[in-house]
Amino acid sequence: QATLWEASCRPAGTAGALLVTLLDATPLEQAVQMRRDFVANVSHELRTPLTALLGFIETLRGAASRDPAARERFLGIMGNEANRMNRLVGDLLSLSRVESQERIRPKDAVDLGALLTDVLKALRPLADDSKVAFDFTPPQVAVTVPGDADQLRQVFTNLIENAIKYGSSGGLVTVTLTGDSEARVSVSDKGPGIDPVHLPRLTERFYRADTHRSRMLGGTGLGLAIVKHIVNRHRGRLKVESEPGQGAVFTVALPFA
Ligand code: ADP
Repeated sequence: QATLWEASCRPAGTAGALLVTLLDATPLEQAVQMRRDFVANVSHELRTPLTALLGFIETLRGAASRDPAARERFLGIMGNEANRMNRLVGDLLSLSRVESQERIRPKDAVDLGALLTDVLKALRPLADDSKVAFDFTPPQVAVTVPGDADQLRQVFTNLIENAIKYGSSGGLVTVTLTGDSEARVSVSDKGPGIDPVHLPRLTERFYRADTHRSRMLGGTGLGLAIVKHIVNRHRGRLKVESEPGQGAVFTVALPFA
């Protein structure tokens, strides 16, 4: 079965409208295409910092070699570019690890209140840089789910890091944890939010709602793809809600058994 696009269109003003018939590509073709896109994306993402590094090496060999202030500045930029590549490779490894697992073995009983308290503590320096305050009160009764503690830590680290990065500077990041029929963690910020057109594709690898801001903030475009995979492996659900101008709310629901 091949991909087939068929379109017939009558000139404006005549009766009838646009007819489009689409037969889906086979799953194998889709997988091959996705793999091709992924390799192209990774190459592009790696090439950008690499090109910058090569350019600065040339500059350091040339005129800047006799100017200590310029040399320091260029070395600082080169460090940032190398860090960007490092983050990308780290996220690629995380993604490949979680993608290769069919289902998580619930090896730990994860106390989500304690985990979130830990994650918020680790992210305190990043929040301080943007003068962001946290609002989180662990529940009186522990909310514990079966899962992989390291992977769940990564889920909440990615979501809270995004809330700090994309929320408003000087703003508030609110984390709530409840446990009724399932455990629910939500992370909300009061930033510019996300245009609804982006919501369905937000967890695709390398998909960015605001490319400029993501790159400026050192984003890899893989954070939410990793979150989605880990949540799926835990048989959980991820929900994103946002009204532009009002911030964004990411909710993770995890089963107790
Ligand atoms: P990145 O490394 O670019 O942050 P993610 O996969 O974590 O990649 O997020 C994908 C995109 O979703 C981001 O580039 C950003 O445009 C958007 N996004 C994620 N979280 C938020 C948020 N809290 N507020 C606004 N936009 C967000």
